[in-house]
Parts: sequence; structure tokens; C-alpha cells
Amino acid sequence: MALIFMAMFLVLWKRGNMGSYVLGFAAAYFCLGLGFLVTHLVPDPGAFYVFHATQVLYTLGTGALIWAAAKRVGQHVSIRALVVVYAVSALTLAAAISLSDDTGPRLYIVNTGYGVMMVIGTMALFNVQRRNAIDTLIAVLFAFAAVNFLVRPVLTLIIAGGSDASAYRESIYYSVLSVAVTVASLMTGVALIGACAWDMVIAERERGERDMLTGLRARRAFEQDAIAIIDRAKQEGVPVGLVVADIDHFKAVNDVYGHQVGDKAIAAFGGVIADMIRNSDIAGRIGGEEFCILAWNCDGEKAEAMAERVRRRFSETAVPGMPSNNRLSASFGVAGREAGEGYGKLFARADAELYRAKESGRNRVCREEKANVVTEFRPKDAQRA
Ligand code: GH3
Ligand code: MG
Ligand code: MG
Repeated sequence: MALIFMAMFLVLWKRGNMGSYVLGFAAAYFCLGLGFLVTHLVPDPGAFYVFHATQVLYTLGTGALIWAAAKRVGQHVSIRALVVVYAVSALTLAAAISLSDDTGPRLYIVNTGYGVMMVIGTMALFNVQRRNAIDTLIAVLFAFAAVNFLVRPVLTLIIAGGSDASAYRESIYYSVLSVAVTVASLMTGVALIGACAWDMVIAERERGERDMLTGLRARRAFEQDAIAIIDRAKQEGVPVGLVVADIDHFKAVNDVYGHQVGDKAIAAFGGVIADMIRNSDIAGRIGGEEFCILAWNCDGEKAEAMAERVRRRFSETAVPGMPSNNRLSASFGVAGREAGEGYGKLFARADAELYRAKESGRNRVCREEKANVVTEFRPKDAQRA
């Protein structure tokens, strides 16, 4: 089964064009499968070299599993710590083998080693702040494996006592144990394959939603995400601001320097925007040279300041293929979301401001001037006064 898992991870990695962690899972299951074959197919399972060979393979397998699972969620595990755990348990194992024929201490030593490794892995997985259901499931399965490794040898000592290696392997307890461990490993393997398949779906979807030139969201994805964020802002009472931006006299760039340089200018503008927004903001390319930023926890005034920073940075940015003394500029329209307003209305107000910025000379940021808006006269207010 481990070798079948290995094959599936290899196919996912190669065909799915996936990250190195998938290859790490394949390596892990290769070592675990080989370790299993060594223990179960050699003629003399009690021989000391079998203990060591199995331990090396299982350690490599466990280490690769932990490394890959952590890497998948952007965590780092200390390889040095894993090596130290292995070294300590290998030395203790060698001592135990030379001192007695009893399998109890040996099992205790190697299992404790794997248990400590799994604890290190489990901690790395639970360290991730934003976990989805699959990530949590894998972390729980790792925790279960850690507990299993640490508790099982104690149970074995109690139940099987100090029987010798071959008698131990003939015992019913050993058979039950093997089945239990197999089922648990099977669950972990299936969960990991599911996780990798899920990662592939997400990566594929994101590729489809990204604009090729800038790496920002394409229009549809931007609008979908903006609507979702505005919904959340409504519920949580958090202000959001919308910025619409358009490069000035862009047609002339295409006409004078060619379409390819025009593309570079669009990419440069996208790069400036991606650089300057926070993680909680989203940005998209919603038209040829037109961009949109939705800023989370940001009222109209702050959004205006952010747009001003982007404007200044872009006006200082060199575009490859254009003379170095020639800089482009962009115009910006800004609106802060008002009570009851959805994406459509908010966008329309920001877009009207962009139009005003273009009309009043370009290379500027415009936002509705609240002072000029005549507030409605309400008779009730007058009475109260
Ligand atoms: P304004 O200052 O009023 O915004 O003038 P403008 O010339 O930038 O405005 P306009 O919207 O008329 O021109 C946009 C041009 O952008 C027209 C179109 O040929 C070009 N364009 C649209 N998409 C792309 C693209 O992906 N790459 C390149 N190079 N050009 C594009
Ligand atoms: Mg333009
Ligand atoms: Mg335009």
C-alpha cells in the first residue's frame, strides 16, 4: 500500500506540476514501504542488522513525511532536530541489542524516537494560523500517530511481556497491532493524497483567475472577491475603500513604443500596486490599463492616501523599453463605502471620481468632497435643536 501511495504521489507531482513537498511524500512512502518489506521478508527478523536497517528506513520515511507535510503548509521543521532524535535512538538501540535478546527495550526505544519526531511534526502543523479542514485533519492524524508511537510500546511491554522476537511476531497482539497501525497509516495516506489533490485544484483555479500580465486578479475574480469582502465588512462593521486607477494617455505608449512596451507598462503598474497594498487588501486588473483596489479596514480618507502613494510611486517608475526621462502617470478615483452600499454603487462612485481626475488634468487622485454635499434637512433635528 505504501508503494501504491508512492506511485500516486509521483503521478500527482509529475503530471500535476506540483511543489517539491509532493515528491517528499513519495519519498516518505518509498522508505516506509521498503522498511516494511525488510522487516517482513528477511529470513531472520531477530538479527541486529534488521533492527538497524528498519530503523534507518522508517526514520527516513518519517522524516520525509514530516518535512513534506510541514512544507505543504509553509512551515519549517528542523532537520537537525530529527537527526539528533535518530542518533540518540540508534545509539540506545545498539546498546540494547548488545545487552539483551529481549525485544521490549528495542521496541520502546525505536518507537519513542518516531514518537518524538511526530511530536515535532505535529507542533509544526498546529503552528499554522489559517488551517482549512484538511490541514486540521492531517495535524490530528499526526498527533494520533505521535501518541500511538509513545504509548504503544508501554502497552506492548505490559501485554506481550519480554518475549523474544519471533514469539512476539507470532502473537495475536502483534497481528491486531499490525492491522491497527495499517489502518491508521492508510487513513493518513488517503488524507495526504486528498490534500495534494485539493492543492492542485486550488492552484489550477487560481491560475485561471489571475491576469497573466500582472499576476493580479482578473476582472471576474476581483469582482467576486470584492463582493464577498464587502459582505464581511457589512457584518463586521469594518470600513472599506475602493480605488479605481487608469494609466494616462496609454494609447500613445502603444502608438509610439509599440504594444509590447505597452504591456510592460501595464505590468509595471500592476507591480507597483501589488507592492503597495496590504495582505488584507485585494487588487485586480479590470480592463486594459485599468486597475481596482479594495482596501480592507480603510475609510475614504485612508484609501485616498494609499492611492496617492501608488500614484507617486508609479510616476517614478521606469518602464523597460521607454526612454529613462519619460515617465508615465495614472489617474485615480476613490470612494469609501457608505452604509447599505454594495459593490456596484461603490464602484460607480469611485469610477465617477476617476472620470473627474481625468477631466481635471490627469495624474491625480480624486475623492468625493463631503463638504460640498448638502446634507438633507430633517424637521425632527430642527425640533430637537
Ligand atoms: P486616458 O488618459 O484618458 O486614460 O487615455 P488613454 O489613451 O489611456 O485611454 P484609452 O482608454 O483610450 O486607451 C487605452 C488603450 O489601451 C487602448 C488599447 O489599445 C490599449 N490596451 C488595452 N489592453 C491592452 C493590453 O493588454 N496591452 C496593451 N499594450 N495595450 C492595451
Ligand atoms: Mg487610460
Ligand atoms: Mg482606460
